[in-house]
Amino acid sequence: MVELFRDLEDYGHEQVAFFQDKDTGLKAIIGIHSTVLGPSLGGCRMWPYKSEGEALRDVLRLSRGMTYKASLAGLDLGGGKAVIIGDARKDKTEALMKAFGRSVEWLGGRYITAEDVGMKEADIDTVRTQTKYAVGGSNEGGSGDPSCFTALGVFQGLKAAVKAAGLGEDLQGMRVAVQGVGNVGYHLCSLLSAAGAKLLVTDIYEAQLEKVRDEFGATIVTPDVIYDTECEVFSPCALGAILNRETIPKLKCRVVAGAANNQLENESDGNELMKRNIIYAPDYAINSGGVINVACELEGYNRELVLTRVNKIGHTIANILAMAKREGIAPHIAADRLAEERLNEKKGNGSQRQVVTA
Ligand code: NAD
Repeated sequence: MVELFRDLEDYGHEQVAFFQDKDTGLKAIIGIHSTVLGPSLGGCRMWPYKSEGEALRDVLRLSRGMTYKASLAGLDLGGGKAVIIGDARKDKTEALMKAFGRSVEWLGGRYITAEDVGMKEADIDTVRTQTKYAVGGSNEGGSGDPSCFTALGVFQGLKAAVKAAGLGEDLQGMRVAVQGVGNVGYHLCSLLSAAGAKLLVTDIYEAQLEKVRDEFGATIVTPDVIYDTECEVFSPCALGAILNRETIPKLKCRVVAGAANNQLENESDGNELMKRNIIYAPDYAINSGGVINVACELEGYNRELVLTRVNKIGHTIANILAMAKREGIAPHIAADRLAEERLNEKKGNGSQRQVVTA
């Protein structure tokens, strides 16, 4: 317990709530990092975590990331996230989703849930039978799968980073190595291909790879060689913590710009990229298209408005990279400062920190 509070203090969370339901087997943790800018919003991840500690760390990191993401995206929303411990393919039932929905409802609107890994639109629809605090479903004005908006934002941010690296504005013939061609990676490949980029792709699922090869003429590389692949841009669209002590020395790119959350294993890895003269587009700044899309549901969904907002991600990345250059700091630090500026303005005298369990 002592360590739990130390972690919460380090991450700066307002509230962390634990939910269990014996009948359905629900074991969920909801992390509310900040409600300074508004109610916290963030997806629910269902994953077979090896330990409860691993699940807790994940929810703490992810929910803090959402605070920064919403702040930089100019949303009047805070940062939150939920994790459910379990294998989505085996353990997910309608009853379990309903129990999760009741847990969200108990927080009275301080946390709004959405999809993340292991959750689908239909699950959000089930959750919504128990609470109105859920977005990204297919019913009642739901905006559905956000990954094409995430991909559009990444595409705009990638172009801004390429320009900042002195590689020009035209992606024609530019080599982009995409790690993970799932929901976001696939849509990103489509946009990059239309812009004339040369795609080098990897995934652990053959079917996904064949699809992007057949549709976009992508060259397939194996997962272990993606880091060593000669390219102008490396685009991580699969896992977190892939920029680390082992992988950074291997990179043969000028820019890292992709959708994955928590790409830097440690803060110091952002500095290592800078030392290697590799421009890094901070993950939570470039991948905010999805949250911008679902957040729009709260004010009445308007696709045109979403597209306008998502297209601004290019400017956000350009601003971050310009600030980093001006101040001689790594881009992830510049992004944190810009996000914190808005939070501090709103916070005034600081927010209350509270931890409850349920
Ligand atoms: P997804 O599960 O649809 O796609 C991920 C792909 O990565 C899968 O095809 C998977 O097979 C592949 N993969 C897994 N391990 C791999 C490995 N070791 N090497 C190569 N490929 C591997 O997920 P997604 O929705 O496309 O999200 C991708 C990333 O973007 C995730 O980190 C997610 O958190 C982040 N993200 C997604 C959204 C969104 O709108 N979906 C929004 C913000 C951030």
